Amino acid sequence: MAAYEYETHEYDVVVVGAGGAGLRATLGMAEQGLRTACVTKVFPTRSHTVAAQGGIAASLSNMGPDNWQWHMYDTVKGSDWLGDTDAMEYLAREAPKAVYELEHYGVPFSRTDEGKIYQRPFGGHTTEFGEGPAVQRTCAAADRTGHAILHTLYGQSLKQKAEFFIEYFAIDLIMSEEGECQGVMCWKLDDGTLHLFSAKMVVLATGGYGRAYFSATSAHTCTGDGGGMVARAGLPLQDMEFVQFHPTGIYGAGCLITEGARGEGGYLTNSEGERFMERYAPQYKDLAPRDYVSRCMTMEIREGRGVGKNGDHIHLNLSHLPPETLKLRLPGISESARVFAGVNLNKEPIPVIPTVHYNMGGIPTNYWGEVLSPTEDDPDRVAPGLMAVGEAGCASVHGANRLGSNSLIDLVVFGRAAAIRAGKIVNPDSAVPTPNPASVQAALDRFDNTRYAKGSTPTAELRLEMQQTMQKDAAVFREDKTLQAGKVAMDEIAGKWSDIQVTDRSLVWNSDLMETLELANLIPNAVATITAAAARKESRGAHAHEDYPERDDENWRKHSLTWFDDNKATLGYRAVHMDPLTNESEGGIDPKKIAPKKRTF
Ligand SMILES: Cc1cc2nc3c(=O)[nH]c(=O)nc-3n(C[C@H](O)[C@H](O)[C@H](O)COP(=O)(O)OP(=O)(O)OC[C@H]3O[C@@H](n4cnc5c(N)ncnc54)[C@H](O)[C@@H]3O)c2cc1C
Repeated sequence: MAAYEYETHEYDVVVVGAGGAGLRATLGMAEQGLRTACVTKVFPTRSHTVAAQGGIAASLSNMGPDNWQWHMYDTVKGSDWLGDTDAMEYLAREAPKAVYELEHYGVPFSRTDEGKIYQRPFGGHTTEFGEGPAVQRTCAAADRTGHAILHTLYGQSLKQKAEFFIEYFAIDLIMSEEGECQGVMCWKLDDGTLHLFSAKMVVLATGGYGRAYFSATSAHTCTGDGGGMVARAGLPLQDMEFVQFHPTGIYGAGCLITEGARGEGGYLTNSEGERFMERYAPQYKDLAPRDYVSRCMTMEIREGRGVGKNGDHIHLNLSHLPPETLKLRLPGISESARVFAGVNLNKEPIPVIPTVHYNMGGIPTNYWGEVLSPTEDDPDRVAPGLMAVGEAGCASVHGANRLGSNSLIDLVVFGRAAAIRAGKIVNPDSAVPTPNPASVQAALDRFDNTRYAKGSTPTAELRLEMQQTMQKDAAVFREDKTLQAGKVAMDEIAGKWSDIQVTDRSLVWNSDLMETLELANLIPNAVATITAAAARKESRGAHAHEDYPERDDENWRKHSLTWFDDNKATLGYRAVHMDPLTNESEGGIDPKKIAPKKRTF
């Protein structure tokens, strides 16, 4: 039994993560008068949200007719009918309110000539329930929207006197015997001390797990720590097989070129100089949804029409756009193209390739952000004391495929919803729960075992093995054979955990130990992804299965759940919520409009 001293802190709410979701939740909780702490492993404004470029979707109608129902329809279709209808309605309805709030908090949005928030077209966002032309729905601050939002939310959170614990690494959740979350154990990276945060509500806002793959647009800090903690607490992860490949990562570097580049008029070409998206998606062309564009690019490359000396990538053309537009609307990607591809956007195309970008799956929640602990009798059972928001969570609004600019809006709508809900269910006058000593000890023991791990497999070696397996076997196109091989390989990788080697035993700025704890979190996320993918015998959204090319609503319109115990995954399923929040007679959407049909573009 490991003996460590730790300092105890008591709060009404502890938010883990200071990206867009964590900060919006922190700000909202503090505004409601709840004593709120925000714990984060990196400085808040270094969270991956800072890298978001293109924008945030909301039907403001600043650039032409639009409404929440069209936004909802696009989200339903984008999700390939796997999203929860109530959550998708909530997202589309609340989006304009959440964006105006951001504006009032001070986000410096780009402006139209009349001074309204500028909006650009993005893939899959349309009018007239998919019958009309593309809509300009994505609100932008040039191509640095995430940067603008994150800095504003951090300033506002400080103003509300939320307390920040920066460069504190959350190790494990503290859970009661009955399954209530009572807090979180953290390691302060710069002085090696341990801290137990006891709280009436813990909110996980730890972001995605893109780093389970070899080539990803996400930051190196996106290691699925929330998913890892939840899995160790005996709770499931949902819809993990759905991993989004963004069509335009810079070839060789993995950095993102925003979809806003195509929104502003950029287009893709193959080795014959053909604008091939016109052939695959006559209506929306380069602005078809991401899963589809990524598949079309992969097909072009496979059929021998890729560009470059190995014919293994595609060109993104922007040189026909006026230099002023590039300077005003896309200054960040002009720089990225120059630095990472050596390309002058005014003259040359950018070499691009589909690159892992976003995790649709995550910790299952309802549309208030409350984490679910489903049972067969009660698939919507809530795990008390625990919420999850942002990319770490799965509300589920993105289903099998997320539309571009629908993540930033998910962060603020559900960060806000979690705060509204906490305002109702957290009593500031009640006592903070006494932490379960067995759970506290388990967290300390795991930390200690990792610190003193004496195996022969260095962390970097096992991580690379995992990343290469995921890249190869859980790719844009999947088939039974490779998924099965990937599952066997990932099970072996998880099994090698007992042989992990940590060489630095210190507690101060020990990046060896931190990366090992991160790998311990990536592994359950990766195993869940490949296990759920190998089981799903259909094609839906980002899960393109070559042996089962059609969507199969009868058997597979259901959420997958993966529990991870003792390095093994167990699968279950949960029904998709089909009912909207509001009846049509009360101003809700006509259910016929969102009835399942084949996705065409
Ligand atoms: C390059 C890029 C561009 C994008 N562009 C857009 C866009 O234009 N529009 C759009 O809608 N979406 C975009 N996305 C997606 C979107 O930005 C992300 O999904 C979103 O920002 C995730 O936000 P988050 O708050 O959930 O997590 P993050 O911003 O990733 O923040 C995670 C937080 O959790 C903390 N944390 C994690 N683990 C721990 C731990 N163990 N202990 C303590 N703290 C921890 C981190 O310190 C960090 O503060 C983009 C994504 C990328 C990668």
